[in-house]
Amino acid sequence: MRACGVCRTDLHIVDGELPPLRDPLIPGHQIVGDLADGSRVGVSWMGGVDGSCPYCRRGAENLCDSPTFTGYTVDGGYAEYAVARADFAYPLPAALDDLHAAPLLCAGIIGFRSLRVAGVERGENVGLFGFGSSASLAIRVLQAWDCKVYVSTRGASHQKLAESYGATWVGSENERPPIDLDRAITFAPSGDVVVAALASLRKGGMVAINAIHLDRMPQFDYDRLLWGERQIRSVANMTRADARDFLDLAAKIKLEPKATVFTLDQANDALAAVRNDAVDGSAVIVP
Ligand SMILES: [Zn+2]
Ligand SMILES: [Zn+2]
Repeated sequence: MRACGVCRTDLHIVDGELPPLRDPLIPGHQIVGDLADGSRVGVSWMGGVDGSCPYCRRGAENLCDSPTFTGYTVDGGYAEYAVARADFAYPLPAALDDLHAAPLLCAGIIGFRSLRVAGVERGENVGLFGFGSSASLAIRVLQAWDCKVYVSTRGASHQKLAESYGATWVGSENERPPIDLDRAITFAPSGDVVVAALASLRKGGMVAINAIHLDRMPQFDYDRLLWGERQIRSVANMTRADARDFLDLAAKIKLEPKATVFTLDQANDALAAVRNDAVDGSAVIVP
């Protein structure tokens, strides 16, 4: 192990908000480590698939019926050593150092998948609803694709952050961007935000929901909001192709998320800091 990023999902696992599957369990699913041959690899949340279920066979391994989740169904990376499936360990480009690569391995890849699910094409007008760690990586990818990015987010600090990243427009939560969007990605666990994103779309546009849970899906006006071939899609997990393509792009555009280092002995402090939003950037454990 060289480094392991701390993800909010680790907290949900440690706190038992996700049903416990192993006890004891070593958490951690944003792993940077060296193989026995000295090559450096990254391991993410999707630690393996069965390769045989109907979803794997149709090329949708992110929807596998029997997935392995790193740091949840198998031990993860808060450790000196970890075991991972070779075909789910991604060679890391040299341009990404350990501390910057680790935080990319969950939020970064899934944010990238959200852009793919939304069907983003070069130069489009794209809305980001919510602006946390995943969105702050996604905006850099969108800018590399010459997209104009419109950010609606709650809280002055997130709005300032979006401005500092060079968003074309920044508004408050649920506020409508000044133009009709081609695509929108929502990050907040709120159905009202999904409806606000839907209301911002042009005909034929798409909303991708980057959230495992929504509080509820409110009733909305089909004639006005969904008619015109607008679409809503959820985003579930990731494929190996998403991981490889994203890591290549991250190296090319020098994506360097801020990281705060904790030692392995301080793993509980790292979790507490994530719980209290007290980390500057992402928490990374270095054994
Ligand atoms: Zn499968
Ligand atoms: Zn994660």
